[in-house]
Amino acid sequence: MSRLGRILKLSAQSVLFKSGRDCMVRNNLKIIQAGKTFPVRFQHSEATKEEDYHSIIKDTEKPIGESTKHEFQAETRMLLDIVARSLYSEKEVFIRELISNASDALEKFRYISLSDTESGNIKDKDRALEIHISTDKNNRTFTIQDTGIGMTKDELISNLGVIAKSGSKAFLEQLKAKQTAEESIIGQFGVGFYSSFMVADKVEVYTRSPNEPNGWKWTSDGMGNYEIQNAEGVQPGTKIVLHLKADCREFSDEDTIKQIITKYSNFIGSSIYLNGKKANIIQPVWLADPKSVTTQQHIDFYKFISGSYDVPRYTLHYKTDVPMSIAALLYFPEGKPGLFEMSRETGSGVALYTKRVLIKSHTDNILPKWLRFVKGVVDSEDIPLNLSRELLQDSNLIRKLRDVLTSRVIKFLHDQLKKNQEQYEKFYQDYGLFIKEGIITTPIQAEKENAAKLLLFESSHLESDKKITLTDYISRAKDSRDIFYLAAPSRTLAEASPYYESLKKRSQEVLFCYEPYDELVLMQLQQFQGHKLISVEKDMRDDKAASDLTNLSDDSLKRSEINELSDWLKSKLSGKVVTVNATTRLENHPCVITVEEMAAARHFIKTQSHSLSEDRRYAILQPQLEINPRHPIIKKLHKLKNSDPQLAELLANQLFANSMVSAGLVEDPRVLLTSMNDLLVKALDKH
Ligand code: ADP
Ligand code: MG
Repeated sequence: MSRLGRILKLSAQSVLFKSGRDCMVRNNLKIIQAGKTFPVRFQHSEATKEEDYHSIIKDTEKPIGESTKHEFQAETRMLLDIVARSLYSEKEVFIRELISNASDALEKFRYISLSDTESGNIKDKDRALEIHISTDKNNRTFTIQDTGIGMTKDELISNLGVIAKSGSKAFLEQLKAKQTAEESIIGQFGVGFYSSFMVADKVEVYTRSPNEPNGWKWTSDGMGNYEIQNAEGVQPGTKIVLHLKADCREFSDEDTIKQIITKYSNFIGSSIYLNGKKANIIQPVWLADPKSVTTQQHIDFYKFISGSYDVPRYTLHYKTDVPMSIAALLYFPEGKPGLFEMSRETGSGVALYTKRVLIKSHTDNILPKWLRFVKGVVDSEDIPLNLSRELLQDSNLIRKLRDVLTSRVIKFLHDQLKKNQEQYEKFYQDYGLFIKEGIITTPIQAEKENAAKLLLFESSHLESDKKITLTDYISRAKDSRDIFYLAAPSRTLAEASPYYESLKKRSQEVLFCYEPYDELVLMQLQQFQGHKLISVEKDMRDDKAASDLTNLSDDSLKRSEINELSDWLKSKLSGKVVTVNATTRLENHPCVITVEEMAAARHFIKTQSHSLSEDRRYAILQPQLEINPRHPIIKKLHKLKNSDPQLAELLANQLFANSMVSAGLVEDPRVLLTSMNDLLVKALDKH
C-alpha cells in the first residue's frame, strides 16, 4: 500500500491499521527482547566529558556518474507544498520524525543481522547502531545520520518519491471536504520524512544498503522533482542533510536541538549523539525488566517525568501483550495532592509513547480523569506514531488502552490494600477523594463497582480506626443480602443515631462513613456485586413490618390512640411533614424523620437550600415523621394534646425540629433555641 494510502487509512476510523513495515519493526523488537540481546539500561544524567566526543558524521560522500532526474507525481507536489506551508506551529516535529525513521532503520538492521537466514550474508553486522546529529550554524544545516538498514536505489524511489495517485487524490479531496485550517494537517495525517521540507529548501539523502558497494545520493528542493546519483564514500546507513530555510535557522542551533531531542526522543532505544555528545542520556526505564530497576532509579525517573521533587509511594511497572502490547510505568505520588491536582481542569500526568518515541507528554484519555494524580509513561507498540490529536481523544484504540490500564491500576491498588493495609490507609486518606470522584463520575456500573473495591469504611462490628472494604463486609455477612451504611459526622454520633438502634439490636453490621462524600458515593453506587447498598434511614422508611401495629406491647399507646395522635400531629405539623407513622423500630428515641433519599437530602441542605423558604424546603424534602408509641414523651404528648393544647403544640414542633437536627437536615442548630426557650417557659409555668 502506498504511503498516502496508509496515511488516509489512519485518518479514517481504523487506527489499528499496521503497515507490513511497522509489523516488522514490532516483531523485531519482540525477538530482540526475548533474546535479551537488547539490554535496556538506565543511567543518571552526567555531563559528557571531552574524551566522550564521538561522531561518525564526516564529509566523505562523493557523487559519481550520471545524475537522473525524477518527477514527483502531481499530487505529491501538492502534498509537499501543503506540508511545507502548513505546519508553522509545530515545525520542530520534523526532528522527531527523522529520529524515529533513523531508529526504525536501526531496528530493521538489528533484526536482519540477528535473523538466521539473512545474517550470514551481512557484512559488518556488528557495527555500532547509533544516531548522530550535527548542526552547523554557518552553513545553516541540520544533519542526521544513522548506521541502520539504508536504502537501495529502488527503495529510495519507492520510499521517498512515490505517492500513489488514488491515495493522493483521496487525501486532497478529504482536505477540501474538511475545510480545516491547514495547520491541523500534520496532526491528522503525520507526514514523516516530508516534514523536512517545512524547514529546509533543499534536502540531501545519502544512503547505502548493506552489502551494496556504493551508496546513493538523493536530492530535492521539495518542489517538482528529485535527483538520484550514485555516490562513493557513503557509510552504511543513511545520512540526511537539511539546508535550512533562512527563517528556520534556529534548527542549526545545538541548544535548541538538544531541547527538542529531550522533549520527544529522550527515550529512544539507540544512542543519539549531538555534535559528538551523547544527547539522550536517559534510557527507557519502562522497557527494562521490572525486577532490574532499583528504587533509586525509579525515584530519579519519577522526578524526571513529573518535574517534581516528590518521590513515588507506589510504583506499578508492568508489561503485557494481551489484549494489547503495553509497557507501563506508573507512579503514585508520596506527597498529598495539591490544589492543582484536585482541580478537574488538571490534565493527565501520563505520557504516551510508541516504541520509545513520544506521542504526547500529557495524554488525556489513556487514564480516566479521576486518576489524574498518577504520573508515568505508557508505551504501546499498537499505537501508530502519527496518531492525531483528534484520534487520541476518540478512538477505539485509546479507549481500549484506557480500559486495560484502569483495571490494572485498580487491581494494583487493591493488591496494595491486601498487602499492607496500614500503608494503603495513608494513601486512601490522601487520595481517597479521587476514588470517590471516579465512582460518582463514571457512568458505567461495572466500572463504578470496580473502583468501589478500593473504598474503606469503619464498621459497627469493629473498633473505631479499624477499616474494612465492601468485599470484606459481604464475605462476613452470612444471611443478609444487603449492605447497610450510616453516615454521621463521628463514631459517637453514628452509634447514638436513632436510625441505627434497631439494626444494632439485631446485631446487623453497619458501615459507618464520616466523610461528607461517602454517602453520596454509596447512594450513586446503588449496589456492589449484586448486594444492594441501603442507608439505615432508607431501611427504616421502607420497613413495612415496623409499622404493623397488630402486636403492640403493653407499654405502648393503643392503636386507636396512635391514630388519634398521628392525625393530630399531622395537622399541627402541616407544611412540615407529609405523613406521620408509628414504628416499632425505635427504642430510646421518641421519633425520627425519614426522607426518600437521605444522602441526597443532606447534600441538598448543604448546597442549595439557602435561598429557599422553609416551606419550599419541606415541600422538596417531603419529611415523614416516625413516632415511637412506647416512648414516655410520645405517651405524654397524647394526653397533653387535650389537657394543654398550647404546650402540646410547642412540644410537637420541638420534637420535629429535634428530629431534623438528628437527621442532619438542619444546617445550623442554633435556630432551634428560640422555640426551645418558648417551650421551656411554658413547661415551667406550672411550677
Ligand atoms: P513512515 O516512517 O511513516 O513510513 P516516512 O515519510 O517517515 O514515513 O518515511 C518513508 C520511508 O522512507 C520509510 O518507511 C522508510 O522505508 C524510508 N526511510 C526514511 N528514513 C529512513 C532512514 N533513515 N533509513 C532507511 N530508510 C528510511
Ligand atoms: Mg517515519
